[in-house]
Amino acid sequence: MCDDCPICLDPMGTSLPFCKLPCSHIFHECCLSKLRAVGVSQTCPMCRAPLPPCPHDLFDEALEYYADIEAQVAGGDASWDQLTLTQQLQMDLAINLWQTAADSGLKEAAYNLALMFRLGRGVAQCNIMAVNWYEIAARQGHANAQNNLGFMFNHGRGVAQDEVAAARWYRLAAEQGLTDAQYNIGVMSRQGRGTAQSNSEALRWYTLAAVGGSVDAREALRRMKSEQQQQTAARRMQPARTNLRRKMLSKQ
Ligand SMILES: [Zn+2]
Ligand SMILES: [Zn+2]
Repeated sequence: MCDDCPICLDPMGTSLPFCKLPCSHIFHECCLSKLRAVGVSQTCPMCRAPLPPCPHDLFDEALEYYADIEAQVAGGDASWDQLTLTQQLQMDLAINLWQTAADSGLKEAAYNLALMFRLGRGVAQCNIMAVNWYEIAARQGHANAQNNLGFMFNHGRGVAQDEVAAARWYRLAAEQGLTDAQYNIGVMSRQGRGTAQSNSEALRWYTLAAVGGSVDAREALRRMKSEQQQQTAARRMQPARTNLRRKMLSKQ
C-alpha cells in the first residue's frame, strides 16, 4: 500500500477505512466520497479512470430489489424455495449489486450476502459461502457478522468446529456492545469453552447483556446467583456438620 492518500496527502494509517479502485489506486473512503460529492470530474485523481459507482448507492439499490421480494414472500405472493423467473432475476440483480459493493469494501454488503447464503434467499443455501462472506464482513469490524461467524465456528456450520475461534469472534462483537454476543461470550466464559473458565468474566458479560435487554442473560444471571448462594450456604453449614459428626463420634 502507498504511504499517503493521494487526495488528502495524509498518511494511509490503519485508523481510517480505505478503498481500492478497480484501477488499483487506493484512497481513504471519506476522501473518495468527498470527491464523489464535490469533484469536478468523476475520475480517479491519479489515472483519470472513471470512478466506479458508489458502493453505498449499489447497496441501497440492491436492498430495494430485495425488500420488494421479501414483501411478496410475506404477503404469500412468493416463496424463497420457488421464486418465479422474474422474482429470481430480481434477486440475481440484488446479489450482483451487493457483490460489487462488497468487492469495493462495503462490509454491510458482505454481511447481507452472508445472510442470503445462510438462509437460501435468491441463492442455493450454502453455509460455506455464508462463512466466507461473514468472515469478510467480520474482518472489517461488522459486529453482527462477527457474532454470526462465532456461531458458525461454535456449531461447526460451513467450517470445522473451533471453539477458540468462536470465542474470539463472539468477544470482538461483544466488545462492540452487541448484546447477543455479550451473552454468547458469557456462556463460553462460564463453561470454559474456547476461553479460560471464569465466573467473574461470565458475570461481567451476562450483566452487560442483561442491561442491553437479553432475557437469556437475565436468566443466566439468576441461575448463577442462586448457585452462588447455595454454595455459600453449604460452606457455612460445613463446620456445623463437622462439629456434629465429631460429637456423634465421641458419644459412641
Ligand atoms: Zn485521504
Ligand atoms: Zn487510478
